[in-house]
Formats: sequence, structure tokens, C-alpha cells
Amino acid sequence: MIPNIIIAIDGFSSSGKSTMARQLAKTVGYRYVDSGAMYRAVALYALKNNLFIDSTPDVDAIVASLPDIKIDFKLMPDGSQHTLLNGQDVENEIRSFGVSNAVSPVAAIPEVRHAMVALQQALGKQKGIVMDGRDIGTTVFPDAELKLFVNATAENRAKRRFKELQEKGDNHSTFEQVLENVLSRDHIDMTRSESPLRRADDAIDIDNSNMTIDEQNSLLLELFNNKIKELTATK
Ligand code: C5P
Repeated sequence: MIPNIIIAIDGFSSSGKSTMARQLAKTVGYRYVDSGAMYRAVALYALKNNLFIDSTPDVDAIVASLPDIKIDFKLMPDGSQHTLLNGQDVENEIRSFGVSNAVSPVAAIPEVRHAMVALQQALGKQKGIVMDGRDIGTTVFPDAELKLFVNATAENRAKRRFKELQEKGDNHSTFEQVLENVLSRDHIDMTRSESPLRRADDAIDIDNSNMTIDEQNSLLLELFNNKIKELTATK
């Protein structure tokens, strides 16, 4: 029997890891979970409920609100997943530039991380899952069978993010602002005390700066097939 495994895909902001993770999950028939969407939903809740003092998260108020924040994913007819915040579809709102700017300080709050990690671990109980984020291979699923760490230069990542925002009609931000946001999120994600962004020792590095989407998809599928072969051979 082919074993069901956990695939952890970590990496920097806008490295294209979600696109890779989503496609791999589709190809191998696994569930895809975007852990960043969960932190974005918490940040959106905090923004909507004025849980910021100037532009700094009001940590006590956000922690006190955690029991009132319910995050789910809804499978859409086209196979994509939408993030629900207290039952409301917030998939578009959580991708806005405003949320991108607010999310990393919110995701650095230890209590927020504990709550999200517990949710992520529950989703992975049955295995057969591809999850992407910053700490999936290190904290959420340290025993994941396949761990990938995706990187690309900050300029390349900002270019992608800028293009995505423009395609969505979000013309409020310049390329320089997007680059600044990418660099600032990198810094906050790498330097926070609770499960910082770090490559797991047993992760496979992928630099996709010069790869097409098709090349990335084939590479991931090859890595998946090799892992399954290895696991079935040692059984
Ligand atoms: O992956 P994405 O860029 O959508 O994630 C949004 C933010 O959520 C990241 O910039 C990071 O601060 C936070 N995050 C995290 N841990 C994860 C996933 C995302 O801290 N596992």
C-alpha cells in the first residue's frame, strides 16, 4: 500500500511556495493547507476590531480575543480552498496589502502561534497533507516525511507579489513598498523568539528564482515519488 505522508513546505514570503504546495497536493490527491492564511485571518480580525495601538498589535487584546476567532477552510467547486473567519469568506481580504503589512507582528505573538500550531497539527492528524508556512518542518510537523525549504531573491519575490497585487487591481502600492514589505516580513519572521523562520536540518533546499512553474511542479513530484519509493522499500 502507498503510505500517506506529511509534506512540509517552508520558505520566505512570496517565494511561490503556496503555488508549488497547492499544485503538488492536487497532483498527488492530498489536502493542501495554507498556514499563512490562518495568521492572515487573525491579523484581519485584529484590524477589523481595532486591536492595534498605532500600528503595533495590542497583544493583550489579541490574546483575549483568540477564543472568539474561528478559522476554517472551505473547499470551492473549482477545487480551490477559501479561508473562513468566523464563517465569513475572507479569502480576498486576507491577501490585501494592509493585511500583509499587519500580519508578521501578529504572527510573532506566542499565544497566537500556539493556537494556530494546535489547529495545524489537528489538520495533519490523518496525514496525506501538504502544508506550507514558515515553521511547518521545524515546529508543526518536525517528523514530516518530506520537508522542503523554498527560497528566491528578495527582488524576485517582490516582483511576483507586485504582479499578483496588480493583477488583482490593487494599485495602491509601489514596487518599492512591496519590496520593503517582503524584507520587513523576512526580518520579523527570522528574528521572532517563538518558532522563527528557519530551515529544518533535514529539509531539501529549492531556489526557484530561475525556475518556471512547470519545472517546479516536476521537481516536487519527483521528490515526492522518490520519498514514497524510499518508504515502501524500507517497509
Ligand atoms: O505565507 P504568507 O506570506 O501568506 O504568510 C503570512 C505571514 O504569516 C508571514 O509573513 C509570517 O509572518 C506568518 N506566518 C508564520 N508562520 C507560518 C505561516 C505564516 O509566521 N507557518
